[in-house]
Amino acid sequence: MEATKFTQKMVDCSLLDKGTASPFSPGDKRRGLPQWDKDRCIRCGICYLYCPDGAVYRTADGYFEADEKKCKGCGICHRECWFGVICMELEG
Ligand code: SF4
Ligand code: SF4
Repeated sequence: MEATKFTQKMVDCSLLDKGTASPFSPGDKRRGLPQWDKDRCIRCGICYLYCPDGAVYRTADGYFEADEKKCKGCGICHRECWFGVICMELEG
């Protein structure tokens, strides 16, 4: 049996687009919002790349924040940050 090529696996597993939850107002159902500690952030952009909803945006000073309307509080940015810069703050 021929092994599946890595590139084919990437196609099979990838999401088509970011931000597909936006029409459902994911922010309304959120229980936690990520908070960034800028003093420890190296501005690598990993949190921006990993957010499945395109909720992380770059600020004018080169750091990152979450758009409260798009963020669903999944915590992926918190989990993927190399330096533990992002904490999830419980809401409500
Ligand atoms: S992943 Fe962490 S260190 Fe990198 S930009 Fe985001 S908050 Fe900063
Ligand atoms: S918790 Fe982080 S990764 Fe999840 S939607 Fe919000 S900003 Fe994106």
